[in-house]
Amino acid sequence: MKIAFIGLGDIGALMASHLAREPFDLTVWNRTASKAEEFARNHKARVAADPADAVSDAAVVITCLPSSVEVEAVLHGENGILEAMGKGSVLIDCTSGDPPTSRSIAAELGGRGVEFIDAPVSGGTTAAKSGTLTVMWGGEITVFERVRPVIEAFGKKIVHAGHVGSGDALKAVNNALLAVHILSAAEGLAILVKAGVEPKVALEVINASSGRSNSSENLIPQRVLTRAFPRTFRLALLEKDIAIAAVMAEDLDAKTPLISLTAERFHEAREKLGESTKIADVASVDDA
Ligand code: NDP
Repeated sequence: MKIAFIGLGDIGALMASHLAREPFDLTVWNRTASKAEEFARNHKARVAADPADAVSDAAVVITCLPSSVEVEAVLHGENGILEAMGKGSVLIDCTSGDPPTSRSIAAELGGRGVEFIDAPVSGGTTAAKSGTLTVMWGGEITVFERVRPVIEAFGKKIVHAGHVGSGDALKAVNNALLAVHILSAAEGLAILVKAGVEPKVALEVINASSGRSNSSENLIPQRVLTRAFPRTFRLALLEKDIAIAAVMAEDLDAKTPLISLTAERFHEAREKLGESTKIADVASVDDA
């Protein structure tokens, strides 16, 4: 099966590595060509000259880009994939995108006989490396069944979220909760340290009690207390996810003051620290 993979970033390159083997025939394209060339030195893959070249004979195209804005750019930009994708092919967008843009892309592709599913992932770079990502997808079951082996190559828990855009919606809210939990666990520990309780002792109790979260159980003990701070996920990407959730809430007229406040805090942090800062530079986080 001919596959094109577009976007060899922190997580995309690890996902693509599972497709660089039989029964797949992989072509990659990355904006910074040196990353694609390095990928092809280490894996069985052809490097395409441009996005259109990557997808022209592919049955399945995967995009893994920062946001839906870049997916639109790869579709419509110079040598874009919209014109080049063959009738009957499928675009799986693994970007943590935004639901309205995914719906509009699906409609545009549908008019040209190309299918679309949004399929963002969670589990971070660790699960991407081991091919055990959680994949939440939105779209038609008949389309999913055609591409199931591709998604199973990098996913372990694979869940149908609903119609197109539902995977993006679920991903945005999951990451908004992650962000809320990071802030709340950090605030709670800050109080306890000031009150003279050792962080390790505090976490031992919290993690055996009802205040626990993935932040308290995994992220803070493994990455902050150890001072390991692995750099796996850009702050700007988490900020983008919470912003998608905040906009969804507004559009749906849901009252979400905690998510709004967290979105503001992460926005401030990204403004101060810049686009390329990874979460580990601020505090440690993964499982995005
Ligand atoms: P990175 O920032 O590491 O990589 C982004 C990729 O997109 C790079 O290949 C980059 O190319 C490419 N790109 C950026 N802008 C453009 C553009 N205008 N046109 C074409 N290509 C472009 O992101 P990640 O790999 O970390 O994340 C990808 C997606 O997966 C995001 O939506 C993120 O939220 C999600 N995600 C990430 C996780 C993680 O742990 N990292 C976990 C779960 C989801 P170039 O090399 O040239 O910069």
